[in-house]
Amino acid sequence: MNADKLARARIRALVPYPSARRLGGRGDVWLNANEAPDAENWQASWQTLNRYPDGQPAPLINAYADYAGVRAQQTLVCRGADEGIDLLIRAFCEPGADAVLWCPPTYGMYAVSAEIQGVACRTVPLSADGQPDLSAIERQLANVRVIFLCNPNNPTGQRVDPQRVRDLLALTAQRALVVIDEAYSEFCPQATLAGWLNDYPHLVILRTLSKAFALAGLRCGFVLADEAVIQLLQKVIAPYPIPSPVADIATRALTPDGLAAMRRRVARITGDRQWLIDALRATPGVQQVWESDINAVLARFDDAAARFQALAAQGIIVRDQGRQPTLENCLRITVGTREECQRVIQALRETTK
Ligand SMILES: *Cc1c(COP(=O)(O)O)cnc(C)c1O
Repeated sequence: MNADKLARARIRALVPYPSARRLGGRGDVWLNANEAPDAENWQASWQTLNRYPDGQPAPLINAYADYAGVRAQQTLVCRGADEGIDLLIRAFCEPGADAVLWCPPTYGMYAVSAEIQGVACRTVPLSADGQPDLSAIERQLANVRVIFLCNPNNPTGQRVDPQRVRDLLALTAQRALVVIDEAYSEFCPQATLAGWLNDYPHLVILRTLSKAFALAGLRCGFVLADEAVIQLLQKVIAPYPIPSPVADIATRALTPDGLAAMRRRVARITGDRQWLIDALRATPGVQQVWESDINAVLARFDDAAARFQALAAQGIIVRDQGRQPTLENCLRITVGTREECQRVIQALRETTK
């Protein structure tokens, strides 16, 4: 049997998402997936594994809704924010007819999910100031059902002006969902738009425990939206998406103690991020360093490929962003521990000597 011949043509042609684990590499300093540098030692209950879990476990839903300041009916738990992206496209876009739109440079999974499902991809680049270009979006809106906007944006670390989002919501009312990807919300909690959900039935917010909560390996994310949107997504999601030990650990991460630990981590990372930004700006060969509201720093180099290799030779793995529009010669460096940040700077300075 020739599996390739049997496969859907678009899967044959698909370039899969270049995840950190798929890219691999040899190193001991992993700064290419915006993971937290520290792991906590969680205990889970392994008792009733003979039973299927709740599809949407109420203690977890209630804990996250409380944390996010929304109602339980506006909350869906899924296997990472990535599954939220996939579910939104599956529930709202007809393959071969509808389209999704996003604003590069940004996160890569919007494209991969749309392509797998045969949904057309429209891109409207962010303006030079990092903001969505509303008049260009308006011109591209035909058949668009879902618009993804990452805030603060990965990989640039920049925030979207809330007034732009209000204008976008006005433009898209009754026409398309506006999905704000808040994977990095904890790094600038004042920027969340969760408080707008009651005013806009077409606003959707994505969240995750993978970044500030240091639980990327748990695979737990959330969709926050109008109750009607959540009910549609519940029709599409697998019947038992969340393993019971996952729900158990996620619920513990949202207790007052868990939240306090997360906030201490965010404070530590924010301090180390400023150290990294300042040190990069004082490093030869670094041409531009973006301000950042996420746990990563984007920098433009004289020769990013050579810098990437020099870092890799020292066991430091970062993310090449050079193929994204306007990000030629740019690397994204996750903010690791202070020692890891120091190793990055030391390795860069050694190679410019
Ligand atoms: C990391 C990331 C995600 C994926 O989060 P998971 O919950 O681990 O699937 C989604 N969006 C953005 C912008 C991210 O950076």
